[in-house]
Amino acid sequence: QNILVEAKPFALGVRIEHPQEIIDQSQYHCEVRGEYLPPSYYSLVEQVDGRGVFSFCMCPGGIIAPCATKPGEIVVNGWSPSKRNNPFANSGTVVQINLEDVLGDENDPFRLLNFQQQVEQAAFTAGGGNQIAPAQRMIDFVEGKFSTDLPINSYVPGTKSTMLKEVLPDKIFYRLKEALPQFGKKMKGYYTNEAILVGVESRTSSPVKIPRDKISYQHPQISGLFPCGEGAGYAGGIISAAIDGINCAEAALKTLD
Ligand SMILES: Cc1cc2nc3c(=O)[nH]c(=O)nc-3n(C[C@H](O)[C@H](O)[C@H](O)COP(=O)(O)OP(=O)(O)OC[C@H]3O[C@@H](n4cnc5c(N)ncnc54)[C@H](O)[C@@H]3O)c2cc1C
Repeated sequence: QNILVEAKPFALGVRIEHPQEIIDQSQYHCEVRGEYLPPSYYSLVEQVDGRGVFSFCMCPGGIIAPCATKPGEIVVNGWSPSKRNNPFANSGTVVQINLEDVLGDENDPFRLLNFQQQVEQAAFTAGGGNQIAPAQRMIDFVEGKFSTDLPINSYVPGTKSTMLKEVLPDKIFYRLKEALPQFGKKMKGYYTNEAILVGVESRTSSPVKIPRDKISYQHPQISGLFPCGEGAGYAGGIISAAIDGINCAEAALKTLD
């Protein structure tokens, strides 16, 4: 209790899903993907007003999954089955959030965590419950139009047509809106109303960090406490979390010598 914790920059946005066919046509320059070619993927990045907007955790042939950890919030993420044989391609598409981007008490280490939670709760309210996620077609999102219907998509609990501008913080909305047409210039076919934006992709990495000594890996106030992995702010994804786990285990072993 009351141990030192720090706020940490993270990224937040939406999950975007296209028919896999569109991504294949764009990346392989063909009408139909060849029999021996895997479902294609992409990686896109753009700077808008000094912040990165980027695709994250792109899942070819994948599924958008509900990943909330508490009632009253919506969090989406994505995954691909090993055969990557779902007819959709999804990717997190998120905006970098620096410490100064979130107003509030600078000394509050949970400032960005609270911000993240507010957006997740706004998404829940907009969806109306039962893990139904707010969603909008891509061009409608950019042009500020309500989507009169939504494309069939992989998010099992269901999607509800929503003006995502009302769910996302202004700076996140604005940067996504600017970036998407630019992504379309880099990748033919990407910028289309056949794509759906599903809110919110908010757990790209942790918005808090539990500090630790660079050599001993232990918390500066509590010896024997090894902050480790994604939740402690030292990883974002399976590989970085695994490597951090190995480093912490080795550091812990040294204390037993
Ligand atoms: C749907 C989905 C798809 C993903 N796909 C990918 C991907 O393709 N590639 C990729 O790199 N990353 C992916 N990720 C992210 C990846 O899962 C995480 O980055 C990674 O698991 C973080 O590892 P970790 O060990 O730090 O934390 P975790 O894997 O979350 O492990 C933390 C563990 O601590 C346990 N725990 C929590 N509280 C307590 C407590 N009080 N007492 C005891 N135990 C506790 C939890 O049960 C859990 O087992 C995905 C995540 C999701 C949700």
